[in-house]
Amino acid sequence: MTRKKVLVLGGNFGGLTAALAVRHELHGDVDVTVVSASDRFLFNPSLIWLPFGKRAPEDITFPLAPTFEEHGVEFVHAEATRLDLPQRRVETTAGTYAYDYLVIATGYRNNLDAVPGLADGNAFTITTLEDAIHAGEGWRRFLDDPGDIVIGATQGAGCFGAAYEFLFNTAYQLRKAGLKKRVNLTYVTSEPFLGHFGIGGLPHGESLLGMFLKKERIGSHINVAMREVDEGRIVLEDDAALEFKYAMIVPPFVGQPVVRAATEIADEKGYVKVRDTYQTETRDEVYAVGIAAAVEVPWQTPTPVGIPKTGFPTEQQAHVAAKNIAAQIRGEAVQEHKTFGEIPAVCVMDAGNNGVIILADHMLPPRKHGVLIPGPQAHAMKLGFEKYFLWKAKHGHVMLP
Ligand SMILES: Cc1cc2nc3c(=O)[nH]c(=O)nc-3n(C[C@H](O)[C@H](O)[C@H](O)COP(=O)(O)OP(=O)(O)OC[C@H]3O[C@@H](n4cnc5c(N)ncnc54)[C@H](O)[C@@H]3O)c2cc1C
Repeated sequence: MTRKKVLVLGGNFGGLTAALAVRHELHGDVDVTVVSASDRFLFNPSLIWLPFGKRAPEDITFPLAPTFEEHGVEFVHAEATRLDLPQRRVETTAGTYAYDYLVIATGYRNNLDAVPGLADGNAFTITTLEDAIHAGEGWRRFLDDPGDIVIGATQGAGCFGAAYEFLFNTAYQLRKAGLKKRVNLTYVTSEPFLGHFGIGGLPHGESLLGMFLKKERIGSHINVAMREVDEGRIVLEDDAALEFKYAMIVPPFVGQPVVRAATEIADEKGYVKVRDTYQTETRDEVYAVGIAAAVEVPWQTPTPVGIPKTGFPTEQQAHVAAKNIAAQIRGEAVQEHKTFGEIPAVCVMDAGNNGVIILADHMLPPRKHGVLIPGPQAHAMKLGFEKYFLWKAKHGHVMLP
């Protein structure tokens, strides 16, 4: 019998985990190919530190080819350009690849059209490596000629953790630079209340985040959309206008164009509609994990917010997909089921030399347990986690927690 072919699109949290886990599940008796637009793994959670010079790109990335080679996975540095689902093949910039099973883990891209002026570069963002490098160049210019700062997350954004982390790291850096008293720092968010985080909030989260803002003398505009971002000025939907010398705005994310074009499986944002097995709704042999997988927002907020599809659920989804593909290849029924909402929330919000550990039994309500633990140990935990995760991913130890 010919060996089955598993094709994985994307080589970051979701793709790397799915590719190596499926090899592990089948004791190597499967051909796995990863096609990724980036030839390096990127530890996105550390992008919040890059603009302040606390990390360089090489500290938080590693080349993917040696890792995959070591584990018997073929790696192709290319971009998928068309999904031919009926023929079970994918066109890429490096040729066409046939598959028996496909895993889509192509993640996100910024939707800078969400607010006029964002795409013109009137504010920085930190959500990609290039963006964070650019935000660092701007930060160094800011230190020579400081003024007020606005940090925010737009309507429809979901990555609120990164906005909070950058906010508190900025406050910390201002203090270190002796600029704290000279600079007004303001947080603007579409969240209905502080500490909502796009996951509905956790017990005492609103008061805890309120205390953090008060302690750092940070002003806030909550539950508000941005109308436009001009050069040096953000206008909010409630007509407030905030002048700035430096602004960092987290935009909403969307899926990749190659996914959005596959209308059989994708929603209008370019995310893949999946079952709780991470198989697509229409095809048993096509899976999607991580940010590429659609999650329905379970609430309506006065200002729209997105869902933070973080690293832990991405890894969990990749393991579910890998187990189910292995079962299908063995001729068994798929056994693993886990909705995004019922995956535990495990996160750290860094605040420079302080932070908050966020733990909950479920990403989305209803929950039995949810706790926020503030303190300097949170910062230490994020530092340790970064080192551990990069080691684990680089050596392909994806079966470790
Ligand atoms: C600033 C920031 C901070 C964050 N902080 C945290 C945190 O503290 N904790 C946490 O748990 N999570 C955090 N996250 C979220 C975390 O980064 C995501 O959960 C994770 O990156 C999702 O992984 P993924 O593999 O689904 O997608 P991605 O990481 O987006 O990876 C997608 C991969 O697909 C590739 N690709 C894209 N298009 C194509 C194509 N057409 N063909 C082939 N390959 C393609 C890309 O090059 C990339 O390698 C943060 C995210 C950001 C942006």
